[in-house]
Amino acid sequence: MTVQTRPTIDNEAIHGFAAGLRGTLIQPADPSYDTARKVYNAMIDRRPALIARCANTADVIAAVNFAREHDLLVAIRGGGHNGPGLGVCDDGLVIDLAPMKGVRVDPVARTVRAEGGATWADVDHATHAFGMATPSGVISTTGVGGLTLGGGIGHLTRKCGLTIDNLLEADIVLADGSMVTASAEQHPDLFWAVRGGGGNFGVVTSFLFRLHPIDTVYAGPMLWDVDKAADVLRWYRDFLPAAPDDLNGWFAFLGVPAGPPFPEDLHGRTMCGVVWTWTGPLDTAEETFAPIRAQFGPPALDWVGPLPHPALQGMFDPIYPPGDQWYWKADFFNELPDEAIARHVEHGTQLPTGKSTMHLYPIDGAAGRVANTATPWSHRDAKWAEVIVGVSPDPADNERMTAWARTYWEALHPYSTGGAYVNFMMEEGNERIRATYGENYDRLTSVKATYDPTNLFQVNQNIAPK
Ligand SMILES: Cc1cc2nc3c(=O)[nH]c(=O)nc-3n(C[C@H](O)[C@H](O)[C@H](O)COP(=O)(O)OP(=O)(O)OC[C@H]3O[C@@H](n4cnc5c(N)ncnc54)[C@H](O)[C@@H]3O)c2cc1C
Repeated sequence: MTVQTRPTIDNEAIHGFAAGLRGTLIQPADPSYDTARKVYNAMIDRRPALIARCANTADVIAAVNFAREHDLLVAIRGGGHNGPGLGVCDDGLVIDLAPMKGVRVDPVARTVRAEGGATWADVDHATHAFGMATPSGVISTTGVGGLTLGGGIGHLTRKCGLTIDNLLEADIVLADGSMVTASAEQHPDLFWAVRGGGGNFGVVTSFLFRLHPIDTVYAGPMLWDVDKAADVLRWYRDFLPAAPDDLNGWFAFLGVPAGPPFPEDLHGRTMCGVVWTWTGPLDTAEETFAPIRAQFGPPALDWVGPLPHPALQGMFDPIYPPGDQWYWKADFFNELPDEAIARHVEHGTQLPTGKSTMHLYPIDGAAGRVANTATPWSHRDAKWAEVIVGVSPDPADNERMTAWARTYWEALHPYSTGGAYVNFMMEEGNERIRATYGENYDRLTSVKATYDPTNLFQVNQNIAPK
């Protein structure tokens, strides 16, 4: 490791900090710097002064203390997937939890403990060995940290609730360098706040989740031609909310990748579809899907069948590797009137790039039965979380796909509840954050004032202390 002099931070102090870490401290002159500062979204290009790759909680405490004592901007990096790149900052210190990936399953208590830098692939791999799972997202390379702290929507939402609904405990290094465990019994105000309030309150070094007996699911994508999109969306809107919690399905407009294993006649085509997950008894799956399969004649692609849960979780990882350009827009919806569906068809069938997409995730079922104020995630009465993403490996597409995402979002926004899922937003200003947290915003600002009164943790969808 090279230690270089910078005007703002004393060189000796950096030496001392680095020497005390079990992990590594990376600086701009180090060969690994450009790799270490990269995040998943290649649109983000930030240059921190220091990256502390923490090996354990002691390293995290040292990093928090160093940042506070030297008045440094702090970014916390879990899996590095955040759309606006809130796991990295310019000039300040990145507390990178990537080396902290330990996962321990307790099969008797039916819980899993995951360190702050674990990905969902790490968790799913560990829990599947015991025939169990906890709800997460739909791409397994996403970090447990950011996804959980923002809420967590995925294939198991209707059955098991959001990820935060399954969080039992979190070990958190606070701005003053102390560490507390937050749970229903200990620091309940902090436990409430971290279940949706993001990385505003401290660095979570360990999460404890409830597990469910979910092993093999009957799941996968079912695609139809886009000329059926309006019919499919209207049917989906009416059908899914009335279906049992065991059936989850998120709607998408998407482009079929031009290569195997996809059928050649679909290569490069824009389609609409639903990615289904059935967690009910496997011997009832065929009868559950028979009417769905018959609804519009045979689907153009039907890859719904029995799958080990981690296979479903990793199914889309190869399509979305790190290093693409991403632009996100999001909203929540209570209803999808026919006019809104017409707007979806108008814009969703005009994807600007092969990887761009629109998803409607159901957030009813178990997630919808939690009170709006039970956690900061205040849109529990909404039925859908919409996300419109422009994605491309080529930066030359950025302007076009950003314009498409904004126009699409504007067309649907009048039908929305006014807030969006924090983990599907870019940096969109304080008004959007307030709309997202709604009636919970004020309580979040006062918990913030208790645990982080100087706003040390501000590289996030920031909630300023009141
Ligand atoms: C391809 C892709 C698919 C996605 N799919 C889903 C999905 O299905 N469902 C869903 O809910 N979301 C999904 N997301 C959104 C995802 O939840 C957010 O991007 C989330 O912020 C990623 O968390 P991370 O730890 O990987 O990110 P990072 O960029 O590392 O961190 C994001 C934010 O979380 C905070 N943070 C992270 N870890 C910690 C920690 N241990 N302690 C304190 N703060 C921390 C940081 O302060 C930062 O502000 C997806 C994102 C991508 C890129």
